[in-house]
Amino acid sequence: MKNIVLFGPPGAGKGTQAELLKNKYQLVHISTGDVFRYNIKNETVLGILAKSFMDNGDLVPDEVTIDMLKTEVENNSDANGFIFDGFPRTKSQAIALDTFLARKNTNISGMVALEVPENLLIERLLNRGKTSGRPDDQDETKIRNRFNEYQNKTAVLQEFYQKQNKYFGVNGVGSIDEITKRLQLVFDKL
Ligand code: AMP
Repeated sequence: MKNIVLFGPPGAGKGTQAELLKNKYQLVHISTGDVFRYNIKNETVLGILAKSFMDNGDLVPDEVTIDMLKTEVENNSDANGFIFDGFPRTKSQAIALDTFLARKNTNISGMVALEVPENLLIERLLNRGKTSGRPDDQDETKIRNRFNEYQNKTAVLQEFYQKQNKYFGVNGVGSIDEITKRLQLVFDKL
């Protein structure tokens, strides 16, 4: 199985690239942010729980997120592999994912990280906010909070995967097509 963590700060282009790469590699794309938004739209218990965290740009608690991710994987038991987009976002989530995959006799093939400077990320998010309808994209204070969460809780995962020789940084600045090509060079090797 090819199980890839597509990594990077908010606005790095993970969702856009995952949608293109899942077709090329026949992988199942799981975006935890998308699953939460779907649940919010449908006013499920999970959605109601996640909403206030998401609206403020805070991370949803680990336990809830990990359980949800496991369910999504279980629901795709015939998959060739996965592109995890927006998960893991904390060290506890990364450890839980490793344990969960090991129990299924598989593992993470690699973390592929889109590297983009912060000023460009803010510009991209504010632009996306004009059409996405996402409250967390429309307000610079919330965007800054998402970056803080990323710096405080998520950025450590680079080291977590580097220690396993599984970290691959990719330049995330350029046209969508250029970036897809750069990512493919890494995906092909994993
Ligand atoms: P995203 O669509 O990846 O930008 O995620 C939007 C929001 O969903 C985040 O700001 C968090 O509130 C929540 N979220 C998504 N994935 C996770 C995760 N792995 N852990 C905690 N919260 C998450």
